[in-house]
Amino acid sequence: MNEKDDNEGFLFPFGNVRNEQDKLIVAIRHALKERKHLIIHAPTGLGKTVASLGPALKFAIENKKTVFFLTSRHTQHVIAIDTLKAIKEKFGTEFSATDIIGKKHMCIFPGMDRTTSGEFIDYCRQLREEDKCDYYTNFRKNNKVSVKARTVADELKRAINHTEKIIEVSAQEKLCPYEMAAFLGSEAKVIIGDYYYLFSPAVRDSFFRRIEKKMEDAIVIVDEAHNLPARLRSLMSIHISSFIMKRAIQEARKFKHEAVLSHLVGLQNVLNALSGDLKDEMAVTRESLMEPARKIADYDMMVEDMEMAAESIRNKQRFSFVGSVARFLDAWRGEDEGYVRVLSVGNFAGEPYVRLAYNCLDPSIVTKDAIESCHSIICMSGTLTPSTMYADLLGFDSRTMSMEFGSPFPQDNVLRMVVPDTTTKYTKRTPQQFEKIGKICADIANAVPGNSAFFFPSYSLRDTVAKIFTRHCTKKIFYEDSRMDKGQRQGLLEKFKKESVSKEGAVLLGTATGSFGEGIDLPGDFLKAVVVVGLPLNPPDVETKALIDYYNKKYGKGFDYAYTFPAITKCMQSAGRCIRSETDRGIIVFLDERFAFPHYARCFPPDYNLRVTSRYIEEINNFFNIKT
Ligand code: SF4
Repeated sequence: MNEKDDNEGFLFPFGNVRNEQDKLIVAIRHALKERKHLIIHAPTGLGKTVASLGPALKFAIENKKTVFFLTSRHTQHVIAIDTLKAIKEKFGTEFSATDIIGKKHMCIFPGMDRTTSGEFIDYCRQLREEDKCDYYTNFRKNNKVSVKARTVADELKRAINHTEKIIEVSAQEKLCPYEMAAFLGSEAKVIIGDYYYLFSPAVRDSFFRRIEKKMEDAIVIVDEAHNLPARLRSLMSIHISSFIMKRAIQEARKFKHEAVLSHLVGLQNVLNALSGDLKDEMAVTRESLMEPARKIADYDMMVEDMEMAAESIRNKQRFSFVGSVARFLDAWRGEDEGYVRVLSVGNFAGEPYVRLAYNCLDPSIVTKDAIESCHSIICMSGTLTPSTMYADLLGFDSRTMSMEFGSPFPQDNVLRMVVPDTTTKYTKRTPQQFEKIGKICADIANAVPGNSAFFFPSYSLRDTVAKIFTRHCTKKIFYEDSRMDKGQRQGLLEKFKKESVSKEGAVLLGTATGSFGEGIDLPGDFLKAVVVVGLPLNPPDVETKALIDYYNKKYGKGFDYAYTFPAITKCMQSAGRCIRSETDRGIIVFLDERFAFPHYARCFPPDYNLRVTSRYIEEINNFFNIKT
């Protein structure tokens, strides 16, 4: 049997199937056939995208299903599209696919991506209902897709297009790009989109209606699924602050909504009274707000009044802060189980503020319907370990299998060390400790023959250590900054990469929680070493404590699920920036004594082969064959 015939059974377009990748393909085909869900930990380099998309597409074509490839990363949209193009080219398979991102990011009107989702949804809905968006009315006439839109869609269907292309063509034709992408989705065998197209109940219901598909026929591939629990919790959380209240009051005054103005002033007084002597934050109950609010007016009527006022305000300006307050008050009436309510005070740009949040603790609240209904959900990531934790947190049922795969790369290409000489543990943070951390980091950076990246638990700790580090480090230093936009981050990375051609290389100082901690690929000589400095544990705030209590009650594993494993996942994500292909060679250092403690060491996959040593310079020299 030649290679083409052999691989055609699971639409694998890229030459030979790799070591471990074959097992992954077998597992996915089995899950699809048996209508099972799969949770897969598969390290970088295994080729998860092609190993999942090929078999899923084949099964979807043969069984009248649709594949939803869900990812939060732009680069993964590109990889998925390119994989589908390669399948089409190699096997001549007939199918169509569409790529869709968040509606506000596809909208023609400028500035929409800076709005909150709630604001944008209200704005877009009102424009459509009042026939005020020409792009929408050009797309649908009398609730039917227009002839022009169908003609443009037929043209787009000929190729597999990235979102950018769909936006560009739709804009030229004065059609709503989101409507176009969704319309293409109705005939597509593969839809590439963000998590919330399947997991946000409100978005999913309207999206599935638009594409005229049923959940029962969905094969869902969730890429980078380690992010899913936190993303879903944030999707189901909402807050208001004194800044929002202030703007809402100005709005009500400006547009003369007297009754709403008096409700808002009353609510602001309630917030101020609640936060009276508060120093940082505290947990509150639903009644803490509702009881005093009822003294202002009937709570339900107050929400209704604000919603109506917001609608009228949106006729005069794009967004309404009164609408934001109404959305929050509406959500605040929700369940207590699986949520925490937090009142906090702080200071932003010199101005004190009060913040009231209704935060979701339990992502399984929103996954339940999808898990029960979908044909198969395949969750994959290079850091989905322990997979049983993700099964618990996401609420997977008895038709779920978990699998963990080893790295396909030669083990000799990477040296993973724990250097136990320091710690960033809060109670042990002293000037002497920082001095030692800064010196060790500089020694490692100077010893590595090329570029190295250091990831700290926070920017403030990074900046403290950097003061010492810069005194000892002989290389050029780049700093990641949380305020950088996409273009600035890309520019910094390009400069950093250029330094890799020099003999000594450069150093990048970032954080494990920042965008470089998991959002960058630096293959080959671009990065020779990653150092994870300290443990990026969640701060022991009200929400973390509530998470620990909740997971303890529900799974008996509060500390592991809310505290320990999420920190190790961040460390593994940062560490993963180094080895991106089978020819890459590099070292990974975990710098903190706690990485050697059994409580934390057990969280790493067995094939990590962590070596605990204080003779790190000797190890680095040996690994890179440096003669001293
Ligand atoms: S209908 Fe389309 S173009 Fe109009 S506001 Fe909504 S997303 Fe934007």
